[in-house]
Amino acid sequence: MAEELDSFKIAQKQLDEAATIMSLDKQALAILREPKRIVTVNIPVKMRDGNTKTFTGFRVLYSDARGPGKGGIRFHPEENVDTVKALAAWMTWKTALANIPFGGAKGGIICDPKKLNPLELENLSRGYIRAIGEFIGPEKDVPAPDVYTTPQIMAWMMDEYNHLKGASKPGVITGKPVEVGGSEGRYDATALGGMYVLRETAKLKKINLKKARVAIQGFGNAGKFAFDIANKMLGAKVVAISDSHGGVYSEKGLDYDKLSAAKEKTGTVQGYKGTEDISNEELLKLDVDILIPAAIENQITSKNADKIEAKVILELANGPVTPDADRTLFERGILDLPDFLVNSGGVIVSYFEWVQNNTGEYWTEKDVYKKLDPIMTKSFADIIAMQDNYKKMGKKITPRQAAYIISVDRVAKAMKFRGWY
Ligand code: GLU
Repeated sequence: MAEELDSFKIAQKQLDEAATIMSLDKQALAILREPKRIVTVNIPVKMRDGNTKTFTGFRVLYSDARGPGKGGIRFHPEENVDTVKALAAWMTWKTALANIPFGGAKGGIICDPKKLNPLELENLSRGYIRAIGEFIGPEKDVPAPDVYTTPQIMAWMMDEYNHLKGASKPGVITGKPVEVGGSEGRYDATALGGMYVLRETAKLKKINLKKARVAIQGFGNAGKFAFDIANKMLGAKVVAISDSHGGVYSEKGLDYDKLSAAKEKTGTVQGYKGTEDISNEELLKLDVDILIPAAIENQITSKNADKIEAKVILELANGPVTPDADRTLFERGILDLPDFLVNSGGVIVSYFEWVQNNTGEYWTEKDVYKKLDPIMTKSFADIIAMQDNYKKMGKKITPRQAAYIISVDRVAKAMKFRGWY
């Protein structure tokens, strides 16, 4: 039978698995298997040629049991409502694991942002906010950046929301530029959080990071900064990195500043002098110590899981590993750390941004990092402790299952106290 690659079915399967292990109440599971609300909108946008083009977008509120919805907005040509539902579910588990007072949500627009000019992009961003305006807000649902959306886009979106409300509401959206209420330290928070997890993993597994070889798939906000921080903060050697065109490999290690400057000019990392071009698929199979998928979902599947050579996988993207691959990696003794732990630094600093917006008090970058580190470190320790608990009961569970058990338990308890079941 072909492997299931529908992200929402995968998210449900992961939840069901955790629910069985933890004997979750059936009524709680029924609530948690489906999103609370799905909004679909069609957005007319004036294009540069004077014609109007209609784009379809979504905003899914998965759960608000622990607080307002929270989660990014993706601009992607292959966006679809099932992927957005899955990503909204994963946001629910992510905010619960970090123990920040939010639920989970996600948005998306079917579009190819690379084909839109800045004015079209702005018109589309504003149109989307006009269309979903009544469903979002600092106390309802708080969007943020995700794949192919930027601080500039967040600024336009906040501005449009403020026009709708006739008031200054910076807390409606996070990931804004600092000039309009963004938080210091937000831009590299996802990657930095992941690197704190890597540091803790190395301590636990006695890996010498100074000697570690790292491969990173993806050169977006997550992958790019992971490259920089792995190099500069952890002293690890990044031997391969890729973007949507493909990747490059160098046994000597790659230099972040030089390679990103080159990509700035050519639009890709490929063809960089002194390196060997490789495909994204080849990158995943490299014999490295640490593999960091930092692009999109369904990258490590039943097709390649038996060929992964890395010792540790850090899921900086959302949903890069399928359940079948999960099982294979676990059986092969590869430590695969789940997305909603590894990439939670982004939403944690989004939470800090929201707190700062709501109180009007602003923090330094140092303050932000000092608050982020213990949350990431605790989430990691909680997962290891949960695995150990089950081990004592004679059951081996994966880090993802342990993370699910912690998060689902928190959300289910909140629903119970609120009288939802
Ligand atoms: N899009 C990011 C994520 O998937 C950040 C979400 C947020 O900051 O709300 O976690």
